[in-house]
Amino acid sequence: MTSLKRRDLLLATASLPLWRTGSARADLSTHYDVIVIGGGTAGIPCALFAARSGARVLLIEKSPALGGTLFWSTGQIAGSGTVFQQRLGIDDSAEAHFNDCMRINEHTADPELTRLTVDHAGETINWLAANGFEVMPGHPVTGIGHDHFTARRYQQGVNNGLSILNAFLPSLESSIARQEITLLTSTGVNGLMQDPAGKVVGVTVAGPSGIQDVRGSHIVMATGGCAANPRLFEDLHGVPLYAKTAYPTSQGDGLLLGMSVGGAIVGGEKYASLAGLVPDAYEYPCQMYAWAPLNPAIRQPWEIVVNAGGDRFVREDHPSIHHIEHSIYQQAGHRHWAIFDTEMLEKSEPIIPDWSRDRLANEHQTHPMFCSAMTLKDLAFRAGVNPAALVANVDDYNHRLRSGESDRFGRVHRPLTLSKPPFYSIAMQGWTLVSFAGLSVNRDLQVLDNERRPVPNLYAIGEVIGAGATSGAAYTNGMLVTPAITFGRLLGTRLAGLSRAT
Ligand SMILES: Cc1cc2nc3c(=O)[nH]c(=O)nc-3n(C[C@H](O)[C@H](O)[C@H](O)COP(=O)(O)OP(=O)(O)OC[C@H]3O[C@@H](n4cnc5c(N)ncnc54)[C@H](O)[C@@H]3O)c2cc1C
Repeated sequence: MTSLKRRDLLLATASLPLWRTGSARADLSTHYDVIVIGGGTAGIPCALFAARSGARVLLIEKSPALGGTLFWSTGQIAGSGTVFQQRLGIDDSAEAHFNDCMRINEHTADPELTRLTVDHAGETINWLAANGFEVMPGHPVTGIGHDHFTARRYQQGVNNGLSILNAFLPSLESSIARQEITLLTSTGVNGLMQDPAGKVVGVTVAGPSGIQDVRGSHIVMATGGCAANPRLFEDLHGVPLYAKTAYPTSQGDGLLLGMSVGGAIVGGEKYASLAGLVPDAYEYPCQMYAWAPLNPAIRQPWEIVVNAGGDRFVREDHPSIHHIEHSIYQQAGHRHWAIFDTEMLEKSEPIIPDWSRDRLANEHQTHPMFCSAMTLKDLAFRAGVNPAALVANVDDYNHRLRSGESDRFGRVHRPLTLSKPPFYSIAMQGWTLVSFAGLSVNRDLQVLDNERRPVPNLYAIGEVIGAGATSGAAYTNGMLVTPAITFGRLLGTRLAGLSRAT
């Protein structure tokens, strides 16, 4: 999902301003109209739009720097009626966007929250564009790494997620300078205050000046997901966190805070797996050593893919990457192996983008996830898959190809038989960068309890509501960053209006 290398991210991060406000300068005895917890993708626009609509806003960020997951995110977003579409004369509608999203995630996303996103996503992108956001050449596109839309409405900033952050920052700086927003960094919220009737009336913060209570009328949780917290992730999804690829602040603080005042957690069952992560080690959560997208829209497969039982389980060139990912999710431990021979190695583009053929060959001499052998049986022993089944599956694949029979799974792209030693395998893992479980919310973004009653004064936006809410049990193009910013804008404006009315 990201083409940025860690070194680029560090360089990009180093050039950003780090705002620090000594708590001494922030007046925490003030009663704030809106308190936003988390200064990332969703929290910054929420604070900005609340402030520009006249609310007194406190923005609290646990890290020294604002931005959250935008430092790592590819930041791909989608919307209709955007200036970028207009430039290219692309005709599109929110209805078509809605239908595409629900088709891609097989109607597993919340239709109300999807509708809310797509109805306002174009305004979000136009607002970013008005603040300097520029897209990559040729964008918008129909898709990149996930199943495609039917229209060109999907774009990525020239500097990935940082392009979005850079569009936020000048307005934020001005609002802070005008004292419309009070910003606390290096300050975490570790408790919510409730009155005897159960209304959330403030937050407890822990920062450089110690522990303090701050009161506010509307409390917005924008603390991100929990995909950097292995224990909480597994508790809420019933699936281990196989790889640590989420931004490290995604510890699930907001989910625990929400639960502490009665908020319900939903969506863990929507867990969806990505394909092709090559782990650094067998223990999980592992680090990503390399990544093979296994996406026929990016590279048609030459290899076969098998599970630990040595069996093929999916049409490797299936036109839907969602279908391939879902098939991987159904395998034990979400593990899968790409199997190929020396002719495939020599003739195909390397399965791992940006790697040369020499590098791919050399890794088979050195890295435990890459095995090679002169027979398929030995390869299976080394790789840890069932030898008899692997040999039988390869025989079947080769026999059908040689005799002109159709493939057992309907695969069409079969350039070569798998028959020339040495044979190679790459061990891969299903994985995710986001958490699907989150706080239950309604279309006003109020946090709901188990009976779907709002927890008074408490709201949630961004990944703390769970990827399952807007992306469903799938990776639906841009359906995390787009709703995070869009809900931030809408909620900030609405809460400022509510504050004026009281
Ligand atoms: C590598 C990568 C690529 C991705 N690419 C895409 C993509 O292309 N398109 C897409 O739609 N989605 C993508 N995603 C997902 C998407 O980026 C995230 O879901 C989204 O950015 C999360 O926004 P957020 O505001 O909820 O959280 P964040 O942006 O992470 O912000 C949360 C903030 O809250 C702060 N915080 C946490 N706890 C506390 C506390 N107790 N007190 C105070 N502050 C706290 C954190 O420090 C953080 O700054 C990607 C994710 C990753 C990891």
